[in-house]
Amino acid sequence: MEDSVRRLADLVAQARRMVFFTGAGISTESGIPDFRSPGTGLWNQMKPIPFQDFIADDAVRQESWRRRFTGERALEKAKPNRGHLSIARLVKEGGCQSVITQNVDNLHQDSGVPEEQVIELHGNASYAKCLGCRRRYEIAELERQFRQLGWVEPCANCGGVIKAATISFGQAMPEREMQRAQAAVAGCDLMVVAGSSLVVYPAAAFPEAAKSLGAQLAIVNREPTPLDSIADVVVHGEIGPTLSFVVGLN
Ligand code: NAD
Repeated sequence: MEDSVRRLADLVAQARRMVFFTGAGISTESGIPDFRSPGTGLWNQMKPIPFQDFIADDAVRQESWRRRFTGERALEKAKPNRGHLSIARLVKEGGCQSVITQNVDNLHQDSGVPEEQVIELHGNASYAKCLGCRRRYEIAELERQFRQLGWVEPCANCGGVIKAATISFGQAMPEREMQRAQAAVAGCDLMVVAGSSLVVYPAAAFPEAAKSLGAQLAIVNREPTPLDSIADVVVHGEIGPTLSFVVGLN
């Protein structure tokens, strides 16, 4: 095993108030493509739909539902992988207090991390909400409608726009989650970043803040990130094998 992975294992063993910060890279082993990996990243295939375009044009909204309900269905099929399970073990053992995630795939919760210890900066794609009255809609219900009609109708309650409960580009960050993330960062002694290119702000500011407030910073990512130079340990490798080694998961 590489020295950097052993150093990460030591940091994790010594930490008392660890926080994980995860990005799309932790879910690629579960079959969900990330955005920016060369070749396989989603951005090589289709551009994300900005919030303003989604609001302004029904055709754009229906295109976003079409993307969701056709093709690979990676989100629906995905199961937690060794990376998620390793973090869940650290949470269960008490060393890891919170998981701040940019992911919308619900896999941290599915791996056993209690809801109240997951901080979702970019929302959750496993359900939808009306942007007007905030009524919750289940994805299965919207899919049935899409298959029957060829589109998703406006909110049955108020006529508002229904959108997956994610934060799109151009949409305001969720206030409560941002506050929870700030509190987690302020209280941690080790922040471990797993699978983020660390280029999407304001999310990527959290690892930077943790370091400047005195926590140790570890980064596990296949490719270099802009914060490698300030990190205490950088593992340029695969998340699943790295974290399983660190926590002793078979
Ligand atoms: P990103 O695509 O910008 O970066 C992912 C990083 O993970 C890349 O640098 C890549 O090299 C690395 N990586 C991929 N698989 C890896 C593996 N198995 N082991 C180690 N490293 C691996 O993702 P980001 O930083 O999270 O930013 C993209 C935004 O897109 C997120 O904010 C999120 O909202 C959204 N998104 C979410 C999902 C999801 O929920 N799973 C998927 C795609 C995009």
